[in-house]
Amino acid sequence: MTAQASTGAPVAFTNLMSMDGEAGRAISGAVSRVFATERFVGGREVAAFEEAWAAYCGTRYAVGTSSGTTALELTLRALGIGPGDEVIVPGNTFVATAEAVAFVGARPRFVDVDPETLLMDPDAAAAAIGRATRAIIAVHLYGQLADVEALQRLSALAGIALIEDAAQAHGATWRGRRAGAFGLAGCFSFYPSKNLGAAGDAGAVVTDDPDLAASIRRLTDHGRAQGHPHTHASIGTTGRIDALQAAVVHAKLPWLDEWNARRRRSADHYRKLLADTPAAPVSWRFDEAHVAHLFVVQVPHRDRVRMLLEREGIETGVHYPIPCHLTPAFSAHRNGRIPVVERSAGRVLSLPMHPRLEPHDVDRVCDILLRSVEEVGVR
Ligand SMILES: *Cc1c(COP(=O)(O)O)cnc(C)c1O
Repeated sequence: MTAQASTGAPVAFTNLMSMDGEAGRAISGAVSRVFATERFVGGREVAAFEEAWAAYCGTRYAVGTSSGTTALELTLRALGIGPGDEVIVPGNTFVATAEAVAFVGARPRFVDVDPETLLMDPDAAAAAIGRATRAIIAVHLYGQLADVEALQRLSALAGIALIEDAAQAHGATWRGRRAGAFGLAGCFSFYPSKNLGAAGDAGAVVTDDPDLAASIRRLTDHGRAQGHPHTHASIGTTGRIDALQAAVVHAKLPWLDEWNARRRRSADHYRKLLADTPAAPVSWRFDEAHVAHLFVVQVPHRDRVRMLLEREGIETGVHYPIPCHLTPAFSAHRNGRIPVVERSAGRVLSLPMHPRLEPHDVDRVCDILLRSVEEVGVR
């Protein structure tokens, strides 16, 4: 194959479903409602969203936060985790997971991942537990639940907290329970490109623990004791969810399962076309446990393959090209090599994935991907 100009239609990496038909009308209605009441902070919209999100996740409480990162940070703070403590995190994750740990003054301890799923390896987590370990953060990366059963057992045995970073796994289930409901707390992001996205930054923590929910809520609201706006019971911050974002996310929630189902259909199609090829998909542990936030394959010469795809109008992403422990910000937190993470970082490639993807888009992406992999391989 020689390089040629694109002849097919471009394929976008994502589609935010922000004004999609009926959902779009629900969103507009929600926005108008918030403006009509001029209650932009707190109030009914926030309470209604929190109630709906807790019900969806199958937990007793949800507390809206200003972002997913804030959700993680304030969960750690509420648990009293800080200087002198260690928290185990997978080496393959978005930087926010480790950032939250370092931001509260604790040490992130990076562990390796399973080579098939690129999710935290429970044995590596077990081996990393020491006297200073206070928690494990399981990250359900790409939309797939980490091995929550093994990690629940491990954290119970060690007497430490299991926190879920479910920022990429809204609605993923395992044995009928949803992401966020397995740990002491589950942290979500509603960043616009997530499976359930706001019109800006937003997040939430879900938990069954009333004291933890109350502590996190206080921290998001300047440490205010509930019902006492001038009594600051603890040092907090401005970490609340905006009423506008709560209303937008709430308005989109009825479509989440359908959008996830559409993502999974495209993922199944990709998996069929790419199985046993040199662009092998990262494997799915259990079909039901995945909501296909991203569709990730591993290819040799990734950056060159990516350029060829771009030339054909196919947008891709890389999650993540530099593992957290190798970025300058975490140079003080390196704790040895984590070979699977380091090797896969040069090979992972995220293909177009969103609820509007059509079967012919997937066909075209796979066709060009396989040709590109072959082309860079023979050069
Ligand atoms: C998006 C994301 C976050 C952070 O969420 P923000 O809302 O952007 O702060 C944390 N962890 C993971 C795995 C994410 O993908």
